[in-house]
Amino acid sequence: MSGIGAVVNAAVGHERVADVLPETFLRDPFSVGDFDTGGEGRGRQAMVPTPGGDLPFGGDDHFVNRVTSGAFKLEPTFYEPRTIHADLGSQNHCCRCKGYQRFPSRPERHTIQMIRTYRYPLRPTKAQEAVLITWIDRCRVLYNAALEERRTHYKRFGKGVTRYDQQKSLTIIRAEDPSYAEVPAVVLRSALDRLDKAYKAFFRRVKAGETPGYPRFKGKDRFDSFALMGSAKIKNSKVHILKIGPVKFHEYRPLKGKPLDVRIKRETNGWFLLIQVDLGESPPKNVDLSNSVGIDLGLKEFAVLSNGEAISNPRFGRGAQEELAKRQRVMARRKRGSRSRARAKVLVAKAHLHIKNQRLDFCRKTAKSLVDRFDVVSHEELQIKNMVRGTLARSINDAAWGQFIQCLVSKAEEAGKLVIGVDPRGTTQECSRCGGKVSKGLSQRTHDCPHCGLTLDRDHNAALNIQRRGQVHTAKAFSNRQAMAGCT
Ligand SMILES: [Zn+2]
Repeated sequence: MSGIGAVVNAAVGHERVADVLPETFLRDPFSVGDFDTGGEGRGRQAMVPTPGGDLPFGGDDHFVNRVTSGAFKLEPTFYEPRTIHADLGSQNHCCRCKGYQRFPSRPERHTIQMIRTYRYPLRPTKAQEAVLITWIDRCRVLYNAALEERRTHYKRFGKGVTRYDQQKSLTIIRAEDPSYAEVPAVVLRSALDRLDKAYKAFFRRVKAGETPGYPRFKGKDRFDSFALMGSAKIKNSKVHILKIGPVKFHEYRPLKGKPLDVRIKRETNGWFLLIQVDLGESPPKNVDLSNSVGIDLGLKEFAVLSNGEAISNPRFGRGAQEELAKRQRVMARRKRGSRSRARAKVLVAKAHLHIKNQRLDFCRKTAKSLVDRFDVVSHEELQIKNMVRGTLARSINDAAWGQFIQCLVSKAEEAGKLVIGVDPRGTTQECSRCGGKVSKGLSQRTHDCPHCGLTLDRDHNAALNIQRRGQVHTAKAFSNRQAMAGCT
């Protein structure tokens, strides 16, 4: 058995990757080397951790959900899926060659469409800024009016107003009111679109059995952006806006891809230009299964890797948190509605922004270095929403695991690497060598296996389990792809 095979088998232990791989896979260029298919397995059924169904190549539904929910706020780089096989109507047809294949689970999606949002600082002149402020406020007033219309119409007639009805009304409003006629229609329409999206999200969540909040009226500081859709032209670090003309922006990195949408956004520290581009399909996954890592996200250390390395927790929150608290106290002392309170409020917002930026920077750098070093990164599928309510809330927020995983997914997608969320159940209790169950309390830091005598750091043991589950999972996905190899 060669070196790599030995390493993999040692890491896989009782649930060997070879168990879930067809023979052909072992001779595949993606193969991890010559496996020892015999050996002493415990004969346990290979457990395939599938939180959101089987993980096909390049993403599946739970990947999609994670990426689309709130991604815009957290991580400017994000991806949307494109279901290539949608028009085929059958799960058993290949999305490329339309040939019939029987899949063990849902069909694979070969690639996904990569959508990235570039965010550039916008540098409007004083006069241009004044216009932008006016436009945002017009959009806000329109948004509130449209919301009011939808509400009253529903109360009176028992049915809602559609976006199309409201767009028609917009034409009338612009014909009658010169203050609206001077704002481009596309800008105002973006406010109606935003309301429509809010409604759709509301009904989607109602349908899903959640209890969402009804779309709200927006106060002055709750409405900060508008879209230019296709009306904006970008050339020589300038964005050409209808009725304003060219506005400079700081193009600190080159813009790539085909622009889909352009937004102007006002933030605490100035104006920003958000350009959503289509980068085409993600590169095919070409990974070496032996070059995998499992990461156990924790509170003591930010993460422990399956090779024993630890990434320590930066805890930015703590230092900056004091400054934030101080500024919040100052703000609380100021009289409501006064100018000094408004100034204090800006300082509070800046402190929040500082913490947010530090966190994002850390997440991106850590994710990048992991994706550079490893081909397959597995992590525990976390239910952060539930955890944040508990007593550990502050630290978990600090650690920003969710954001980190989001960064990891998008970096990996660009690099043709794999990130896998595995079932977190029992990763701490299970022995990474023999698979035996070793119960331990929260405070017990070492894993001491009575069955095989393995002694390891608790988190390191968990990371090894996570790595193995990820490998088993990937092997399955690869063997699925193998079934389709004839046509790709
Ligand atoms: Zn053991």
